[in-house]
Amino acid sequence: MTHRILELYSGIGGMHCAWKDSGIPGTTVAAVDINTVANDVYKHNFPETNLLNRNIQSIKPEEIKKMNINIILMSPPCQPFTRNGKFLDKNDPRTNSFTYLLDILSQLDSVEYILMENMNRLPKDYDDPFMLSEIIEENVPERYLISDKLLKRANIFDICYKDSRRSCCFTKAYTHYVEGTGSVFTEASPETVDNCYKEANTHEVGSPDFVSTLKDLKLRFFTPKEVSQLMAFPKSYEFPKNISIKQCYRLLGNSVNIKVISELLKILVD
Ligand code: SAH
Repeated sequence: MTHRILELYSGIGGMHCAWKDSGIPGTTVAAVDINTVANDVYKHNFPETNLLNRNIQSIKPEEIKKMNINIILMSPPCQPFTRNGKFLDKNDPRTNSFTYLLDILSQLDSVEYILMENMNRLPKDYDDPFMLSEIIEENVPERYLISDKLLKRANIFDICYKDSRRSCCFTKAYTHYVEGTGSVFTEASPETVDNCYKEANTHEVGSPDFVSTLKDLKLRFFTPKEVSQLMAFPKSYEFPKNISIKQCYRLLGNSVNIKVISELLKILVD
């Protein structure tokens, strides 16, 4: 049997990638999102999918019925259920489209499976199923180096190395702040980093000497491509040229870990 999928809140298509990764036969009949930047990225990677640039609340049950879908994959906005969104829950307007879906669900007779992703707390640490050296790009431009301003806060960085097999969850604020938004990378060895930090900490934290000592480590952010690889997006996945680096991080920060969803899909459907 070939499944027919409706991908709601499709973003950059994490669910689409996960479905492909699972190897389960099926087609994404339609995808829906209101973010035009995310939609550009989606279209670039999945030009064959009917992508609707619409508010989910504008989609009538009749329209969905005509699609004859049996699976809904969705990642509704998580902000209403998080600290950042003040835990407003149903009182946050960003929940409206989801409550709308719940209201119309009973009319969607053909739907057999729903996979919904959401989170109310950030998972802190991921075990990566590979060594970071496998996804680290070479000759990464200067622009990814951590600025002096952020180096002042270097004591709170989560540092990854070539042979690390773990990283922190990347969020959409990655590179804006360093605290809890994702890991940083250095080519230096853990021993070198250790010694350098010891020396830096003989100076006042955040002082010019502290910063200049740590500069030797050439700490840098992961590139969007590397972040996408850490989230197990396929190697062929691309961001169109007109999307800025900041936008890439924002979009990736909203997306999902492909491997995790793929395994969940196998459990749900197979
Ligand atoms: N899983 C997606 C990201 C989900 S984030 C991915 O892999 O990228 C939530 C998405 O829901 C965002 O892209 C946002 O633009 C979209 N969204 C939020 N409210 C919506 C609504 N009412 N109608 C359509 N899309 C909506």
